[in-house]
Amino acid sequence: MPKSRRLSDLACCYRVDGKKKFRLKEIDPGDTAGVESKEDATEQLAASVTALCELQEKLYAQGEWSLLLVFQALDAAGKDSTIKHVLSGVNPQGCCVTSFKVPSARELNHDFLWRAALALPERGQIGVFNRSYYEEVLVVRVHPQLLEKQKLPKPLVTGKIWKERFKSINDFERHLTHNGTIVLKFFLHVSREEQRKRLLERLRDKTKNWKFEIGDLAERKLWPRYMDAYEDMVQHTATECAPWHVVPADHKWFTRLVVSTAIIEKLRSLKLHFPTLTPDEKKALGVARAELTRDGA
Ligand code: AMP
Ligand code: MG
Repeated sequence: MPKSRRLSDLACCYRVDGKKKFRLKEIDPGDTAGVESKEDATEQLAASVTALCELQEKLYAQGEWSLLLVFQALDAAGKDSTIKHVLSGVNPQGCCVTSFKVPSARELNHDFLWRAALALPERGQIGVFNRSYYEEVLVVRVHPQLLEKQKLPKPLVTGKIWKERFKSINDFERHLTHNGTIVLKFFLHVSREEQRKRLLERLRDKTKNWKFEIGDLAERKLWPRYMDAYEDMVQHTATECAPWHVVPADHKWFTRLVVSTAIIEKLRSLKLHFPTLTPDEKKALGVARAELTRDGA
């Protein structure tokens, strides 16, 4: 990495907060922002993993803020491995990952935000959404027939439904941030060619066969429609309180570094601290210390 570029600037480059018009074509999936080698990035990531571990300890101890990390991407863009690497140092007691799949019959009997609300992190916790309610304006938008399974009253299914969903999502995220949940959203932007290579690798490597689904090829054919849906999603739901990071994803080591940096920067800005004791609590600790000291005598 060039000495002139501070790590904190790295996340900023890919942050989209709705202040200016977002165009997906401006983000190159192969970009590495001048980070010269995988080795450099891996070293930086190791430092970030340690930093995140320390910040999480305070987040957990303080028990006031919570952090929601949303990951969206097409197949093989690296969601699973980014989550695995970036969060590798955090205490499992303070972190919960939820992977959102095709909604169950029970989930379809509720509004589209219901299952996400059930999985939100408690105060002090980090919640990770591997896919999320954003599927409702992505896969469902690309396959509008999925709406029929949602049992929505017919008069509510109009041409305005996507705009209405964006508004529901923005309102939901604003509500969360006003109540102490920090929302950070990551769209891992992989190129079509890199996806092809990774899907082929899933077919070639026996230990990766399980990740391949025949349906992935059908979705791949709809690439332009997905790109339009992703662009529209970011344009409508990138806000100052719940920004998107549109992260180049052709180099996994770079993706991890950007995601990890964005999380650390945000947590640092909260000025987290261990709980401070009141004079009475300090006095009680003094009494306990004296008692334990006497016990050992
Ligand atoms: P994976 O993450 O690869 O295990 O796949 C999960 C699948 O569930 C993907 O094909 C998603 O598009 C699909 N999925 C997730 N949420 C929804 C949703 N709300 N409606 C329809 N399909 C969904
Ligand atoms: Mg899959």
